[in-house]
Amino acid sequence: MNENSFFGDVCSFFDHAAQFTKHPAGLLDQIKACNSVYRFRFPIRRNNGSVEVIDAWRVEHSHHMSPTKGGIRYSEMVNEDEVMALAALMTYKCAIVNVPFGGAKGGIKINTKAYSIAELENITRRFTVELVKKNFIGPAIDVPAPDYGSGEREMSWIADTYYTMNPGALDAMGCVTGKPIALHGIQGRREATGRGVAIAIRECMSVTEDMERLGLSVGISGKRVIVQGLGNVGYHTAKFLAEMGAVIVGLCEVEGAIYNESGLDVEEVFAFRKENGSILDFPKAKQRFKDSGEGLEQDCDVLVPAALENQITADNVGAIKARIIAEAANGPTTPEAASAFTGRGGIIIPDMYCNAGGVTVSYFEWLKNLSHVAFGRMDKRYEENANLTLVNMVEQMTGVSLTQEQRTQVVKGASELELVNSGLEDTMVRSYHEIREIKQRIEGVKDLRTAAFVGAIDKVAVSYMNLGIWP
Ligand code: GLU
Repeated sequence: MNENSFFGDVCSFFDHAAQFTKHPAGLLDQIKACNSVYRFRFPIRRNNGSVEVIDAWRVEHSHHMSPTKGGIRYSEMVNEDEVMALAALMTYKCAIVNVPFGGAKGGIKINTKAYSIAELENITRRFTVELVKKNFIGPAIDVPAPDYGSGEREMSWIADTYYTMNPGALDAMGCVTGKPIALHGIQGRREATGRGVAIAIRECMSVTEDMERLGLSVGISGKRVIVQGLGNVGYHTAKFLAEMGAVIVGLCEVEGAIYNESGLDVEEVFAFRKENGSILDFPKAKQRFKDSGEGLEQDCDVLVPAALENQITADNVGAIKARIIAEAANGPTTPEAASAFTGRGGIIIPDMYCNAGGVTVSYFEWLKNLSHVAFGRMDKRYEENANLTLVNMVEQMTGVSLTQEQRTQVVKGASELELVNSGLEDTMVRSYHEIREIKQRIEGVKDLRTAAFVGAIDKVAVSYMNLGIWP
């Protein structure tokens, strides 16, 4: 196996799945390879007057579709191998959920906590300038988004820098997604990944045959969940799962983990951490673990790693009690750990599908930016008027009248948020069953990750052949 290489792990998963496809070896090699790896360095002046050199990357893994798409990771730990792995995962992720993009990823090697906001802005703008200079950004070329360590604020700096360097470019705002609503962002993007993860888990737990095999009842209600990471993805996943009726029994963060078999209130824990800088002293926790890893090993039905890669490894997989691992993070389970877990009957909902809600709504944001109009703007009122006419006619014909509340519910036209959430839910539900169907259909495919890779490889291969660049 590929000890210490995340990209190597992704390639191992790819190679395993490739056996179940019928594509020529050369085509598979082309799909697997990272097409463009741009590694660069640039200087910034710190607030104290000193100059510092920043390491950064943008990797475009596959150009079978344009633009390429993927977040920018701001982390001290970021390295070329990691950015390549994450870019490759973006290619497969987009293919699985039918988002018409190639995969990409960026990385800026900094500890964000060590810089002032002004310095972060300077770094982000300079990073964007470097991308523009080499044609590594643009609405039709490569479209970044948030990832670990970055958010709406950073995306707005990128959009502004790109527009400044491309004055008058009509579609400039489509150069990056995950922007604030006030700067051409889209409703629902912030919570999209977490919402998608919760829907993925709900879908998985709705299949009677699979739940029987795991010894679990069907449905998410009452199921015990441990979430690792209270960042944007982990927080929203926990929040939506709780809304669906799951019990969040454990939460893990860098400083440690907390557990309560009767459930933890996610909002309360989140607010507590914001105020105290740690979850460990949360008063309603029954157990506390200074070693965050111990939190993953507590009793639960579903484990949601929503932090970083390599969290479930050959060393701790034996101690994991969950029956389902939902990979909200990218690459949280190593190949060895994954085969041990599925080998003993567990289900892994693979990252490339599980966390695809983010890029799905990024796609909607990009469409909104290109069309220069918010979803629902043209038809919301029309729909309401048409519904009202229908309700009035039915009431007249039947003599039955609706209550004011029922009437409002029936008549209401869809808002942008409702349309985004509907598109997201449909994408996640359809893709889950598509992957599961591949797993059921192809002999030898034993887990959802292999099935997801098979589906993704087939779709990318078809694009390459349709591009006519393949003999
Ligand atoms: N960084 C996110 C991911 O890994 C979002 C990417 C995007 O929206 O383009 O999927």
